[in-house]
Amino acid sequence: MPSVARRSHQPTANGNDKSSNANRNRRQNIAQQKKSLPIASVEKRLIEEVRKNDILIIVGETGSGKTTQIPQFLFDAGFCREGKVVGITQPRRVAAVTVAKRVADECGVDLGQKVGYSVRFDDSTSNSTRIKYMTDGLLLREALLDPYLSKYSVIIVDEAHERTVHTDVLMGLLKNVQLARSNSTSDGRHLNNGDKNVNGFMSLDKDNGQNGNFLKKDHRDKSSPLKLIIMSASLDARTFSEYFGGAKAVHIQGRQFPVDIFYTRHAETDYLDAALITIFQVHLGEAPGDILVFLTGQEEIEAVERLINERLTKIPEGSRKLLVVPIFAALPSEQQMRAFAPAPSEFRKVILATNIAETSVTIPGIKYVIDPGLVKARSYDPGKGMESLIVVPTSKSQALQRSGRAGREGPGKCFRLYPENEFEKLEDSTMPEIKRCNLSNVILQLKALGVDDILGFDFIEKPSRAAIIKSLEQLFLLGALTDDCQLSDPVGRQMARLPLDPVYSKALILASQFNCLEEMLITVAMLSVESIFYTPRDKYEEARTATKCFGSPEGDHITLINVYRAANDLLEKRTMEMNKMKSEKVLRKWCKENFINSRSLRHARDIHRQIKGHAEQMGLSLASCGDDMLQFRRCLVASFFLNAAVKQPDGTYRALASGQVVQIHPSSVLFRKKPECIIFNELIQTNNKYVRNLTRVDYLWLTELAPQFYAMQN
Ligand code: ADP
Ligand code: MG
Repeated sequence: MPSVARRSHQPTANGNDKSSNANRNRRQNIAQQKKSLPIASVEKRLIEEVRKNDILIIVGETGSGKTTQIPQFLFDAGFCREGKVVGITQPRRVAAVTVAKRVADECGVDLGQKVGYSVRFDDSTSNSTRIKYMTDGLLLREALLDPYLSKYSVIIVDEAHERTVHTDVLMGLLKNVQLARSNSTSDGRHLNNGDKNVNGFMSLDKDNGQNGNFLKKDHRDKSSPLKLIIMSASLDARTFSEYFGGAKAVHIQGRQFPVDIFYTRHAETDYLDAALITIFQVHLGEAPGDILVFLTGQEEIEAVERLINERLTKIPEGSRKLLVVPIFAALPSEQQMRAFAPAPSEFRKVILATNIAETSVTIPGIKYVIDPGLVKARSYDPGKGMESLIVVPTSKSQALQRSGRAGREGPGKCFRLYPENEFEKLEDSTMPEIKRCNLSNVILQLKALGVDDILGFDFIEKPSRAAIIKSLEQLFLLGALTDDCQLSDPVGRQMARLPLDPVYSKALILASQFNCLEEMLITVAMLSVESIFYTPRDKYEEARTATKCFGSPEGDHITLINVYRAANDLLEKRTMEMNKMKSEKVLRKWCKENFINSRSLRHARDIHRQIKGHAEQMGLSLASCGDDMLQFRRCLVASFFLNAAVKQPDGTYRALASGQVVQIHPSSVLFRKKPECIIFNELIQTNNKYVRNLTRVDYLWLTELAPQFYAMQN
């Protein structure tokens, strides 16, 4: 097996002949790649196992072909007859999108036909889609509309080892759906289960069957049993097998070449700088082969991208053949695919990725891995009811997965940017997310699915009682639950229908009453993306001046609205004269001049379009408060009252709900102004606790607009 043979089958031709040749070559190449995957030799056996077992656990090395091949095997074996669909869930949207594109390519079909994907805010599927990649969260939402998931013949829960909160909940749910579907075939007893729904729990309110959350006695087609496949990259199948009553587990032999591991001598104070130095050391000193760097998020990836490109201009021209490709969730999907395309010949590719590249997607050509050993993770303190994002060390198993990426196609090297003795101190594996996140989103969905007894739900690993109770309490305070913990109508039901965090859903519902839904839609869209502004280190002052014109003395929310509207105005003014391509270009240029992240803005505009659609469907009144931002700020208080903080004599803030001491993040427009009372949307923990995205509010509004919380407190 050649080590990292550079493929140079980029279609360079301009003539038809040449391009059809290139196409044929490409097809052959793909066919060959498919055949050489470890999984190709066990197709028959796998299909047999699926036929024999209603639940099957498949464990296999990352890159062995599980995600891309197994759905195709199932299709070929007839599991999609009579319009049935094979569904594959992924914890991450990037994986769902890129894998679907790859598989469509392998099948030689257009994306959205036989093969498609569906993720929040982006759906490529059609009636003819038979192999459907989606996020685990999306399948949970589908269950709200079709509790039997009746169109699926097989559901594959992929990347189960990641143990995201959605994966965990989904497994519990699928267990019940499977039972319901098998019961209904054998004797139909389940059909006559009175008011019980699929999940075997009593229905919410008997008069309200039209939501589709209940087992309807005349329910269409649930006649065929559902096959479940749980796939995981980690060797430990026991947890899953036990959870599914001793389900059969099969292992797929992977192919792994040796990877040399290097550590730093000392701890690094600036891991981004260390990563940068290592990238150039590899680029200038090592044999050909692409580099994969693990970073913690979009902001970091974009900073490193700029630094690499800057540094490239300072080295001899002959050595500049380094192509930087980022890959992270918020990247527009056609840009995500760039990570998979081979670099032009002679070029070395350096991929800057979040932990998406750990196991979810396999990028060919990697020979070097650079691993600072960090990951951004959710963390939740049920006592304080606060969720935050923190950068934490990876677990040992994550570090091993990362280094494994270097040995897929030949021997490789992995540079861990920390000393060897630090590795020994790492946790063996990552704690399931369900134990470290706010559960209100999941609980709201379970309630909407008719699962009443959250504490009694069959979780693969139970979240703490304290966390469940705190989240129930929050949902109650938001008006989603009634006194006796039932989903409220209409507010709770409306909230469950919106594909947003419960607080954001509530904000939209309230905004229609405060006549500022237009402003709130923009706000929620802008808050759903990372970093609208960017401030390069060397152009700090320039960036500050450029963004000042958007700044609102009231705070960041209105500042974000100003940015959004300025971009809209720009496009509206020119749409007459421009086609779509041109308008994209104009927007990019404008963003660059104004130090605005065009990728983020584009993503926000996309999200805005989608949630506006949801709001319209729900019949919310789409009013704008115009320039009367008082209404809007009051609406912020009514919605985000759990995130209020007041200034203390020393200039720090005390978050009222949690009692935590926090500071205003330097990126906020209110960083220097320090108003008496604020509402914030995000808490970040580094050495200090910072709040981000905040607005100045009147302290008295709290008791006026959120008496359910503050009247009690006083
Ligand atoms: P697994 O799910 O077992 O980790 P995958 O099915 O994701 O494996 O990947 C199988 C192979 O397909 C990998 O070797 C990878 O190189 C290749 N592959 C996956 N996605 C793409 C893509 N978008 N472009 C090119 N090759 C890909
Ligand atoms: Mg996979």
